[in-house]
Amino acid sequence: MKITPVLLNSFQQGRNFENNQYDYSQYRYPVLSADCVNFTGNKKTPKPEYPFKIHYTRPFDDAKAGLITPSELPKREILEYSKYMLPCPCCGDLMMPPQLMDKIRASISDNASDTITLLKNFKNYMHPVEKQIYTILESSNKKHPNLDFHEILRKKYQRAERQLVLQQTAILSDIGLYGRDRLCEEHFNELSKIIEKTYQNILTKNNSKTFSRKTFIGELEAFAEKIISHSSEPKYKTNPYKNFLNKILETAYTLPTSYNSVHAFIVKYAKDKYTHRNIAERILSGSEATIEHALPQCLGGKTKFSNLINECARDNHARRHDDVIQQIREYPQMPQNMQKHFDKLINLCKQGKVDKSYITEIAMTYYKLSKGLIDIDVSGLWKHEKKVKEKNTKYLNVNNGTTPTKAERREARKLKIKRQKIKKQKFIIDAKHYANKKAVKNILRR
Ligand SMILES: [Zn+2]
Repeated sequence: MKITPVLLNSFQQGRNFENNQYDYSQYRYPVLSADCVNFTGNKKTPKPEYPFKIHYTRPFDDAKAGLITPSELPKREILEYSKYMLPCPCCGDLMMPPQLMDKIRASISDNASDTITLLKNFKNYMHPVEKQIYTILESSNKKHPNLDFHEILRKKYQRAERQLVLQQTAILSDIGLYGRDRLCEEHFNELSKIIEKTYQNILTKNNSKTFSRKTFIGELEAFAEKIISHSSEPKYKTNPYKNFLNKILETAYTLPTSYNSVHAFIVKYAKDKYTHRNIAERILSGSEATIEHALPQCLGGKTKFSNLINECARDNHARRHDDVIQQIREYPQMPQNMQKHFDKLINLCKQGKVDKSYITEIAMTYYKLSKGLIDIDVSGLWKHEKKVKEKNTKYLNVNNGTTPTKAERREARKLKIKRQKIKKQKFIIDAKHYANKKAVKNILRR
């Protein structure tokens, strides 16, 4: 089973339900600042200026209007948080809110120079490979302003393909050598048949027989499955042997994709089926915020607040049906990036934009699922409250969180002087006490 990311578009496809009288009170989470029009950035990241403004609709309003079903409400509500420029909990890169992505899709023109100037505004959102592709396109556009993105990539195709084939064949040889050392002759022949076929697909220049990473991995998975389940030999059922088969699959997963290799990107999108518009969209679409189930749906995860988090589209697609521990293995930086994501959420919670119980619940979910590997520090949620209390007591109970008037300040000053006087007296008394004690001691010594 595969987990497909839920994008906002699918929610808004004009669904109309006859019965609109849902009881929304069952949803504990309140609507938070949903009528926000602009982005509120962190202090460190300056407020970006985009060529257009985005208007966000309130998820609860959409639910009441029948545009989304109540069961979709948690997804929409969490996805709504992405408009505050959250870093991805997996890779740590900035995520693009889906509403913004929709606007960009609509604004892409067929002219390459115009597209470059449009994409330039969103450079912060690009993943590393996409950023490299963007710089390649930008510099080529200066030399050849008449070529569109697809034509530019076609020009770069030959060199990129050479590099890619070198990488791919090295990985295939690796897999073949592992198999030669450990498999019996019959199974090795089967494996080498798969590899040979793939070699031919990689090396051939005929467009109809192109190499597909997905099919190759699928074939390998079926091969491993067949050996383990159908073989009568007890050797194949042992753990070291399963580990060896896993190693073969893991090696296959390192085959470059357009998400982690510039060469693979160029080779893929230089094909005829892709257009200028596809490439322009693809540069940003991997960064789009999507809804991720902490415990995947195929493993029994439910669509509720305590199991949902924002994640970039690329990582969501790449996750397949992995659990959190496998995900950490793939992204060793995940615990740190998760903390970054939560720090931002805590910051927003202090401004009243994100629900507090959501933060604590999802942090707990990840703690449990990762068996303690992701131990998020959410103490920041309460630090803020303490500070507010201290500030209020400074104005000596007169103030209720609002700025004090002149009279109040005068009173506060008077009280302060009184307190200082009391403190001084106390100090004098204490000093006398200690002096007495010393005197008694001295007398006793004599
Ligand atoms: Zn990511």
